[in-house]
Amino acid sequence: MLGPPGSGKGTQSARLSRAFRIPHISTGDILRKLVSGKSPLSKKIKSFMEKGKLVPDKIIFSIIALRLNKKDARKGFVLDGFPRNLRQANRLEKIIGKGKALKIFNLKVSNRTIIKRLSGRRVCRLCGANYHIQFQPPKFDNRCDKCGGILYQRDDDKPAAIRNRLKVYRMESAPLIRYYRKRGSFVEIDAEPDEEKIFASIKKYLKNDLYKIKRRN
Ligand code: AMP
Repeated sequence: MLGPPGSGKGTQSARLSRAFRIPHISTGDILRKLVSGKSPLSKKIKSFMEKGKLVPDKIIFSIIALRLNKKDARKGFVLDGFPRNLRQANRLEKIIGKGKALKIFNLKVSNRTIIKRLSGRRVCRLCGANYHIQFQPPKFDNRCDKCGGILYQRDDDKPAAIRNRLKVYRMESAPLIRYYRKRGSFVEIDAEPDEEKIFASIKKYLKNDLYKIKRRN
């Protein structure tokens, strides 16, 4: 799932993961869990993340190789936040093998919408569920509807970090669009509307795959 920060990659990936019964693999979520520790590695990763910079490839490569090797990823997976640059895209091909079919969805959204979505986002400290103070507020003040955890604002959802993430996206991640456009299954999705409508457009392109999966299960 490609797209700038705030395009809804996480939300749509979670929905796809439920519909296809395959794991949702988000490098951002894995990293956020890692940085809750106090080791030198945690501190190093945190220093990149809070500024909105990309975490070095070497760290990302070992995280992703470990995760894709797990048994639950054998029948497929939804990748969210990886690859983030061309080096990572090449590494992904090496891990999964060149012949494997990737379906690429590129979520397109304006900067105005990105800033509105990111600055209002709140995340549950316990389960990682996402909310928005305006568009999807929790039922109880600052508490997660699902697990009761406290909601917080990610450091990288603050204005200076958002600006940096958008810059990094333009420089590092946007070239991926040209790369994947040439490689077969690439679909552009208008990510301006609400969650439901975006998911409906994604599903349209996966109708046959959903049918196959339903038969298999
Ligand atoms: P996300 O949750 O995908 O918005 O990611 C949050 C932050 O984690 C990013 O701003 C980066 O600092 C880091 N990150 C996540 N995925 C990657 C990746 N594939 N490569 C490098 N850094 C990443």
